[in-house]
Amino acid sequence: MSQQQRVKLFIDGEFIESASTKSIPVTNPATQEVLCETPLATDDEMKRAFASAKEAFKTWKEVPVSERARVMMRYQALLKEHHDEIAEILAKETGKTFDDAKGDVWRGIEVVEQAANIPALTMGETAENVARGIDTYSYIQPLGVCTGITPFNFPAMIPLWMFPMAIACGNTFILKPSEQDPMTPTRLAELFAEAGAPKGVLQVVHGAKEQVDFLLNHPEIRAISFVGSVPVGQYIYRTGTENLKRVQAFAGAKNHCVIMPDANKKTVVNNLVGASVGAAGQRCMAISVAVFVGKSKEWIPELAEELAKVKPGAWDDENAAYGPLISPAAKQRVLDLIQKGKEEGAECLVDGSDCKVEGFPDGNWVGPTFFSKVTKEMTIYQQEIFGPVLCAVEVDTLEEALELVNSNPYGNGTSIFTTNGASARKYQHEVEVGQVGINIPIPVPLPFFSFTGWKNSFFGDLHAYGKQAIRFYSETKTITARWPESEIDNEGPNMTIKLQ
Ligand code: NAD
Repeated sequence: MSQQQRVKLFIDGEFIESASTKSIPVTNPATQEVLCETPLATDDEMKRAFASAKEAFKTWKEVPVSERARVMMRYQALLKEHHDEIAEILAKETGKTFDDAKGDVWRGIEVVEQAANIPALTMGETAENVARGIDTYSYIQPLGVCTGITPFNFPAMIPLWMFPMAIACGNTFILKPSEQDPMTPTRLAELFAEAGAPKGVLQVVHGAKEQVDFLLNHPEIRAISFVGSVPVGQYIYRTGTENLKRVQAFAGAKNHCVIMPDANKKTVVNNLVGASVGAAGQRCMAISVAVFVGKSKEWIPELAEELAKVKPGAWDDENAAYGPLISPAAKQRVLDLIQKGKEEGAECLVDGSDCKVEGFPDGNWVGPTFFSKVTKEMTIYQQEIFGPVLCAVEVDTLEEALELVNSNPYGNGTSIFTTNGASARKYQHEVEVGQVGINIPIPVPLPFFSFTGWKNSFFGDLHAYGKQAIRFYSETKTITARWPESEIDNEGPNMTIKLQ
């Protein structure tokens, strides 16, 4: 995409220039070069997107489920064919390393594979003879127009968590991607059209709060899927449910990794380095707190040594471990929190505040940062930092570790490193977090399960992908039927609720 070009809206099957006079520049986070502009769609464009989605629903919901599955199969094949090209666009606008960008695309493709299984996933239930001569069976039917609002940190994976599942269920979908990296989702939409998705089934509208508010307040939009920060997630959940919509809002995180003294030291150190500062810590499943139990605290210096060796760099630098933060504002926020950590008495063993990358003087770089002696009262423990910053907390027992993790308001992911099955079993059973890794640092479930954050990391009931997504994006219709063989079966008015 050439400099300053505006990303297009995808409305009624056409990629169109927005008529809006307002737009937001999208910059390469390693250089500040303007890559393109995100237009803020006009009210008229938002209305047209909805009207087209509503119209398309009338025919798309009647398309046989096996044909819907075939669109997903073709889409999956196209995404695989264009995998590296999408990853390059993604790397340029997010700053992620090329390998990490490929992972972002791949985790999305896996959800499209799941969406291609839609016939089996949308089979209902049946029971014969629930009363004499009466059968009951249920069907899964789509809702109507659904919408998704996505964050900057996974511009391929998270849109692909949403629209393929919703559309495979027979709904039509309006996607409002992050204004910070709109090129990747726009490319995903181009390939979806190429896969043979009928006109209007997917719309992509660009913008920010105003465009989200249009979707939140539209009386006919049935379901809203959101991923982003806690304050915005709470706002979306409150407003969406107040407007009587079905809402799932995935929000921020503070993920703890508990390290038992019986764990393997090398495994722990290697895993913690990648899980904490990988992708510059801009992952909702990143480990941001390492809880050292008993003698495992003796491994802190070795972990600090390994973290200090990690070097960020540009997306196409093969030696770079991770890229820059998404924006100068995100960088400043992380630097302020690091400063706060120092002021509040945490011990800064590795300080990445003054990070420089040769050849990229203007990049939003923050080096790996590691604090020990962190306490529950400190700001760096309480807030989601969303940067390459790891906090170490020391406790004496597994019970104390559990108490710490369970008292934290977030509940996205957690992990335990141990060689003791009883400790792992106790942790897995008692921890109040939705996704638990045992000797696995970032336990993101594959799409045949669901992405199941808890507490302040998720507002709603039904989670992303897997069987829960089918329930989120559909209604169940239950039919109770009697087919009398003759009029003799007709016994006159029945005044009770009893069936037999
Ligand atoms: P964000 O909340 O700033 O933005 C997310 C989306 O909401 C964007 O599309 C944005 O345009 C829109 N938005 C922003 N402010 C709004 C407002 N006031 N009203 C209405 N809409 C608004 O989040 P982000 O910075 O793009 O993403 C990072 C956050 O997302 C982190 O907190 C991270 O933990 C979270 N996240 C969570 C998960 C998860 O599964 N739990 C996954 C990825 C990211």
